[in-house]
Amino acid sequence: MADTTTRVAVIGGGPGGYAAAFLAADLGLEVTLVDPESNPGGACLYRGCIPSKALLHVARLIAEARAAGEWGVHFAPPKIEIQELRTWKEGVVGKLTGGLGQLVKQRKVTHIRGTAAFKDARTLVVTDDQGNRKSLEFEHAIIATGSRATVIPGFDGVAEHVWYSKQALELSKVPQRLLVIGGGYIGLELGTVYAALGSKVTVAEMTPNLLPGVDRELVRVLRKGLDPLFEKIMLEMVAEEPSVQKNGVKVGFRNDKGERSSGVFDKILIAVGRRPFTKGLGLENTGVQVNDHGFIKTDHQRRTAEQRIFAVGDVAGQPMLAHKASHEARIAVEVIAGRNVTYEPAAVPAVVFTDPEIAWAGLTEAEAKERGLGYQVTRFPWAASGRSITLGRSDGLTKLVIDSETERILGVGIVGPGAGEMIAEAVVAVEMAATATDLGLSIHPHPTLSETIKEAAEIYHGTATHVYRPKRKGGSK
Ligand code: FAD
Repeated sequence: MADTTTRVAVIGGGPGGYAAAFLAADLGLEVTLVDPESNPGGACLYRGCIPSKALLHVARLIAEARAAGEWGVHFAPPKIEIQELRTWKEGVVGKLTGGLGQLVKQRKVTHIRGTAAFKDARTLVVTDDQGNRKSLEFEHAIIATGSRATVIPGFDGVAEHVWYSKQALELSKVPQRLLVIGGGYIGLELGTVYAALGSKVTVAEMTPNLLPGVDRELVRVLRKGLDPLFEKIMLEMVAEEPSVQKNGVKVGFRNDKGERSSGVFDKILIAVGRRPFTKGLGLENTGVQVNDHGFIKTDHQRRTAEQRIFAVGDVAGQPMLAHKASHEARIAVEVIAGRNVTYEPAAVPAVVFTDPEIAWAGLTEAEAKERGLGYQVTRFPWAASGRSITLGRSDGLTKLVIDSETERILGVGIVGPGAGEMIAEAVVAVEMAATATDLGLSIHPHPTLSETIKEAAEIYHGTATHVYRPKRKGGSK
């Protein structure tokens, strides 16, 4: 006999887990959420999306105050009180996680603090931080245990000099010289924060490009923004053989031509990706299977190989993003509630919150090409947008990938300040199978950056107002 029973057990309280638990409660299912923290939030709220965006807001403010000098408004150089900044950032996290705690109570979700492991395909054992154990029998379980930062072997010897995103977001100090290993979105976002706070930031990326997999044209615009901010950006460069010196930690660099160099830093931020987290979960006591990358295998309804067990969020596959986790969670719960639904989004948006921001949804140009689709690309440069000029930011670009036969919007990529807010329109356009004509005929407010989407759509017909682009014939393949 188990100590307690539940209809739905949710393991992990991140955006996957709490979205699942809340919807289950809303649909009238009895639900138990297991997570070690006192309030839900997961990596996203405690040590990911939210604290990083709070600090990026501060970085943006510092950059804008500096830029205002060009418009005749001169601020004194910022004096950063790290303790106050940390308190503010922790306040932001506390407000949001505290709010989720309230929602747990209002919805009458049972929250058990601890970590859960499967004893078998019907029972979990939950261990609290004192080592006390309790068994929980469930009808259905949803695994939402998230991911952990990937470590680089060889850097454990200099552990006192190493940060992962979690430690970087604790904001214990502002290192004078910061090496960021990894030019993905987490490395660039946190590099932007520390550069704004005064660190000299060096980025070392192993592949030939920053933000591997992201549209090159958009990344080129971002690179122009990052070059003056960072001390150095090194591509195709492997960081290795760290050693502690009197004045910091020395790191060697090697490119694929065998050329070597080195640098001395006060801190190293390792941001080379994240891995699904299933350690200690007892999956071996169930029929749940994982793939070669460690992600839990699920079907189109997020059901695992074990009939009663579902998996959502970072632990269930790419893209590892909070909104994808929450959407999958809602699908899994609806399936448990007896609805016949599937997870098949046409567009999962992604945003890099650097300055400028990059955001995209639907197919990139490279993906359209790879799939052999007939498509056209239209580009609206922000230099022709009234709104971007008023902001003193004409560096952006809005790019549409359009099906050349049906005119359907296949994908949208945007680089520029506020791109992350704008991309939601693209998601709706792609999901609703909107055409270039639909976007062109939808009146956008003036003067806003959103007009760049409308005008990029009008370029398809050769009729954009603020740029001259005669209609192109045919599509590209
Ligand atoms: P998580 O949020 O990781 O939550 C998993 C929870 O499960 C944790 O609370 C964990 O303690 C708990 N847990 C683990 N094992 C057990 C167990 N055995 N028993 C009980 N509980 C367990 N995504 C975005 O969409 N936008 C962003 O701007 C963004 N910025 C990011 C910035 C950083 C620095 C990082 C690291 C990530 C960022 N992400 C961002 C990614 C985002 O945080 C994840 O995609 C999201 O948190 C995944 O949600 P999840 O519910 O799958 O897992």
